[in-house]
Amino acid sequence: MIGLIFGPPGSGKGTQAARLEEEMRIHHLSTGDTLRGEVAKGTSLGKEVGRIMAAGDLVPDELIVDVVRTRLPGAEQGVGALLDGFPRTVAQARALDAMLADEGHRVDFIVALKVPEDALVERLLHRAELEGRTDDTRDVIAERMREYHKLTEAVLEHYRKQGARIIEVDGTGTPDEVFDRIHLALT
Ligand code: ADP
Repeated sequence: MIGLIFGPPGSGKGTQAARLEEEMRIHHLSTGDTLRGEVAKGTSLGKEVGRIMAAGDLVPDELIVDVVRTRLPGAEQGVGALLDGFPRTVAQARALDAMLADEGHRVDFIVALKVPEDALVERLLHRAELEGRTDDTRDVIAERMREYHKLTEAVLEHYRKQGARIIEVDGTGTPDEVFDRIHLALT
């Protein structure tokens, strides 16, 4: 089973994905966490992407596609995957579809979180105080939102056209409230 958790920056993808991982015994792969890990370790990949991420821009498609290709559990491992933060462009979605097709799979479901933009900015600025993520500043948040509207929103259309199961969920309220809505919609 392959699922995507989809939504704008600050919509709670990581929080909900961690809960779904426990609930559904599905492997959670967050490209943002993976890249931040590479930056923290100072690997060559980390050095390449650090500045791009700090500016709120998307890292090149080829690069992130390779990251996912090497980390996606193979069909032979018998576990599903929940992708968080990927695909973020239609080119990435096509690359993912091709990767999955090689193993006889496709994207089975997409949980799309909806949160109004002013609430997103509030949440991200609040997270900045708690976690100190370098891309949670007002200017960088604005750039991440622009990238989301310009490039990422179209990914949902790509899967809508494929007839994928898209579950749109109100992402406002507490993490528990949102999780209950997702749970209800998925079962
Ligand atoms: P958020 O959804 O809150 O913006 P993420 O942790 O998913 O945060 O991503 C943080 C940053 O990592 C992005 O702004 C981008 O620079 C980079 N990144 C993560 N996933 C991708 C991707 N699929 N394609 C390109 N860049 C990515």
